[in-house]
Amino acid sequence: MQLLRSLLSYGKPVPWRLIHDWKCHACGDCCTRYVVELNPREYAQIAHTYGFSSVTVSAGKIYLKRRPDGSCLFLHNLNGRNLCGLQHAKPEACRLWPFNPQESPIFGHPELSHYRYGRKSFYVYVIPACPGLSYGEPSRRLKEKVIPEILDMKFRGRISQKYSTSTVVPKPSTLYPPLTVVRV
Ligand code: SF4
Ligand code: SF4
Repeated sequence: MQLLRSLLSYGKPVPWRLIHDWKCHACGDCCTRYVVELNPREYAQIAHTYGFSSVTVSAGKIYLKRRPDGSCLFLHNLNGRNLCGLQHAKPEACRLWPFNPQESPIFGHPELSHYRYGRKSFYVYVIPACPGLSYGEPSRRLKEKVIPEILDMKFRGRISQKYSTSTVVPKPSTLYPPLTVVRV
């Protein structure tokens, strides 16, 4: 489809109706290429648990600390799979990635991004940089499980994830304390 090709070639947000499904491959790209901004609650929780050295401040904003290679301090490579060591306090930016849910169609294509949830209308996009996305007719899983969970997290305070995260979730005992078992 011409629209999809154009959005992908420019790396622009893609409306959810052009997505077949999303499954995290635990490739670790998103945890290496991007900074993770924390809100005040996340900052307080993470700094309290892991110390102030786990965060960094720049231009008045607070971010998760990154290693020299750009990877998040909490990213673990276990048997070739990249896993998050912050499962119980994962920042919202990480929980939502690669989805970008909005209350208005700020990235355009309202007919393709519209999602009716309860009595409200939302507009859901994905960031095409994630290799876990596949394109085509939306799957039932995407429509009925993944997107509602994303909207619950963004707009209704949900913290737990079942469908919108990697199916490989490490046992806390294999990762905590996170800074002692990291391989880089
Ligand atoms: S969300 Fe996407 S980029 Fe991030 S680890 Fe999973 S597949 Fe890779
Ligand atoms: S907190 Fe977890 S999901 Fe977020 S960037 Fe770090 S390792 Fe990745």
